[in-house]
Amino acid sequence: MTIRTVVWGENVHEQKNKVVAGIYPNGMHNCIADALNKDANISATTAVLQDPEHGLTKERLDQTDVLLWWGHAAHGDVSDEVVERVAEAVWSGMGLIVLHSGHFAKIFKRLMGTPCNLTWREAGERERLWLTSRNHPIAAGLPDSFELENEEMYGEPFGIPEPLETVFISWFQGGEVFRSGVTYKRGAGNVFYFRPGHETYPTYHDANVQKVLSNAVKWAYNPAARIANPTDAPNVPVDVAPEKIEERGPRLHHDGEEGFR
Ligand code: ZN
Repeated sequence: MTIRTVVWGENVHEQKNKVVAGIYPNGMHNCIADALNKDANISATTAVLQDPEHGLTKERLDQTDVLLWWGHAAHGDVSDEVVERVAEAVWSGMGLIVLHSGHFAKIFKRLMGTPCNLTWREAGERERLWLTSRNHPIAAGLPDSFELENEEMYGEPFGIPEPLETVFISWFQGGEVFRSGVTYKRGAGNVFYFRPGHETYPTYHDANVQKVLSNAVKWAYNPAARIANPTDAPNVPVDVAPEKIEERGPRLHHDGEEGFR
């Protein structure tokens, strides 16, 4: 069994910023996909903002078990139609891993329903990530804590709903702390947010970060068949109710009517 994985990259700063291009000459998305492809159970390809439909057609999403999302400068350029398509894929069972500044991506805010805001500082400070859930599959094979020498700071309060599980918290050299690895279930889909990954630092070359990402892909993978129409809300006629009933009282809707949305 191979987990079909797509790494979606905004691919903007790699083209415009010399520092980012120097660290990620083939783009962050390819660096992440190359790391995932070292795992025999994962088959990772990439898609970017600039592709037609951002590389995320219905057909592609139907063939995707887990989608990773990195965006920062161009969240607003992502089409609302594609965002809704990705949301429906998650509700139907596709796994989603949102990375770093993807906390403000349209898809993450859509699925969280909260502002997803946080405090931040770009000062190249040390980040120490602590496992808070030692036997969680996303933490498999990792030490109790690991460090990234240079990272952007993200601090609490983080405007997310209470997570299903918190797998990592981060401490920063400047003193702030942050819930840096959190899980959710949205519809039938497993969702993981992972904080590190500022584009001017070599974070996705780090072996521990790569381990988290390959663990997360395996955790997010849902082997069950996709739910065909996850937003369906069928009007069930009286004569097919599980128990026999007589219709009573006034009605607002006609038989077979779709109802309001
Ligand atoms: Zn950043």
